[in-house]
Amino acid sequence: TTTTAEWQALDREHHLHPFTDPKVLGEQGVRVFTHADGCYIWDSEGNKILDTMAGLWCVNVGYGRQELVDAASKQMETLPYYNTFFSSSTPTQIQLARRLSEVTPAGLDYIFFANSGSEANDTIIRLVRHFWELQDQPSKNVFIGRTLGYHGSTLAATSLGGMAPMHAMGQSLLPGFEHIMEPHWYRHGQGKTAEEFGLEAARALETKILELGAENVAAFIGEPVQGAGGVIDPPSTYWPEIQRICRKYDILLIADEVICGFGRTGHWFGSDTYGIEPDLMPMAKGLSSGYLPIAAVAMNKRVSDVVNGGGVISHGYTYSGHPVACAVALANIDIIEREGLVEKVREETGPYFRQALQQLADAHPIVGELRGVGLIAGLQLVRDKANREFFPAEEQPAIQCREHCIEENLILRAVGHTMVACPPLTISRAEIDEMIEKTKAALDKTAAAYGL
Ligand code: PLP
Repeated sequence: TTTTAEWQALDREHHLHPFTDPKVLGEQGVRVFTHADGCYIWDSEGNKILDTMAGLWCVNVGYGRQELVDAASKQMETLPYYNTFFSSSTPTQIQLARRLSEVTPAGLDYIFFANSGSEANDTIIRLVRHFWELQDQPSKNVFIGRTLGYHGSTLAATSLGGMAPMHAMGQSLLPGFEHIMEPHWYRHGQGKTAEEFGLEAARALETKILELGAENVAAFIGEPVQGAGGVIDPPSTYWPEIQRICRKYDILLIADEVICGFGRTGHWFGSDTYGIEPDLMPMAKGLSSGYLPIAAVAMNKRVSDVVNGGGVISHGYTYSGHPVACAVALANIDIIEREGLVEKVREETGPYFRQALQQLADAHPIVGELRGVGLIAGLQLVRDKANREFFPAEEQPAIQCREHCIEENLILRAVGHTMVACPPLTISRAEIDEMIEKTKAALDKTAAAYGL
């Protein structure tokens, strides 16, 4: 058998990793994961690790689901591939489109398939511009997103997002993309109530629209809860005001549900949790619980009526609606429904998870704030809790804390100065207790290193 050191040497020689500093990898070597079950994943050293990130925010039903394996293998035997170009379809694609129209918020009944969240967002950019062109308003082509927004890694999705290092790498900020501030009250709202700040953050959209001219703005995009930006759940006043502004200026509203979808926030979609009525909604990740790559764009009748009347859709992917991925997504949605996972997050595990994390956050000197909703959480690490003083950018307490978590056989993610948890929706109370205990140990070590 191959040893860990051998895997690491091979990986170093041949493999360029996303969102990884190759230099650090050169020093440490990759961590090699070999198998998984439920909420646990094993590495090549035999360590059993609690994966409270559900992979990359995606393994909603947990690892090791034979039902999904069976759905994939059955579909592979029957029809491993066919495409959806040139008026073709297969039964699984049709069934999944219909199923998604049932679970998505009312009115979002029309579906386009892609393979990743990034592709779904690229699709949206093209469809939305097409939508305005077909109505003789081609100048309505600017997209407004948010700082720290994440919508994917293709060139266009990078522009849609508001991640400065991503814009900087490869001159990746295209013209036609603007950003407003992220609605993070704890950081930007000193001296204001969360509700006041929520309105102010939303009104930054109005200011931006007026600056650009509504006749030039195509759409606003936001994640109901910003995920990769550090789990930023907005004040309650934020989304209703965003909705009002989009309607007032006739700007399409896009809710990026790639992380928030499929039960994560305690409803099927983050839009349900926050009462958002989007015109378009990209989704991926939890759609198949990550077992196979698949993504979808749901759109309402206003959008579908226009694009359906506009001639050939000159857009699509070889694997748009891949039948095997569709079969897995259908089986995955069955599991979420049959096991009542959405309600479980809303009524049982979500509240338990939050309460346990809140206790930890309140008591811990290095944690300034707990954010999130349902089964997604961020712990903001701070230098001085009493004075709400953040760590300077050059210090990396979260990265240290993440390494201490790994020593405890726990996976949490470090985003800026925030520790993030986003476990499978199947996580048990005992596993939440284990997560809390290990997180506390890692926070203790991190705090000690900073004399806190
Ligand atoms: N949108 C959001 C909100 C995401 O969090 C992500 C990925 O993390 C994406 C889009 C991009 O999805 P993918 O990595 O599947 O391209």
